[in-house]
Amino acid sequence: GKDHRLARISSSIRIIPDFPKPGIMFQDITTLLLDHKAFRDTIDIFVERYREKNISVVAGIEARGFIFGPPIALAIGAKFVPMRKPKKLPGEVISEEYALEYGTDKMEMHVGAVQSGDRALVIDDLIATGGTLCAAVRLLERAGADVVECACVIELPELKGREKLGHRSVFVLVKG
Ligand code: AMP
Repeated sequence: GKDHRLARISSSIRIIPDFPKPGIMFQDITTLLLDHKAFRDTIDIFVERYREKNISVVAGIEARGFIFGPPIALAIGAKFVPMRKPKKLPGEVISEEYALEYGTDKMEMHVGAVQSGDRALVIDDLIATGGTLCAAVRLLERAGADVVECACVIELPELKGREKLGHRSVFVLVKG
């Protein structure tokens, strides 16, 4: 049956129209973080789903994947690896470009953080076009990891981000 916790999670997310620019309906998870029950339920649902899946690495995407990823990693006994914007990581990195609405951006991961044979879960707050998750998946797969699933709190289904991820599965809690 439907998880009774999802309604509270959904209603705790604030929508701010025209941020950061006209036409964007920004899904603001900072109000979810203010509701400790909704925040805890969010983490619990992910932990319940992944605790028996032999996940060895939780890869969190800057910046909001850094909020949801670490508590999940601690609870399931996996390492946490930050997937960062360019020039933030101090060690040797591998990087992947991805398309934005206008232009491109890059994502970086430390060499040696992930090994061949690692089983990875990728975490972000939201999937829109899927380009961001896709870049994270490419980095992990280049390092030899098996990406078990990508997980987000929110999906914007109209943007068909799942299609970009191909055969890889995407798990979300609520749709925007
Ligand atoms: P995409 O690569 O198109 O799937 O975009 C996903 C990334 O952009 C995530 O890191 C989100 O945090 C951010 N993002 C895109 N659209 C929104 C939105 N409407 N509200 C909040 N964050 C968004």
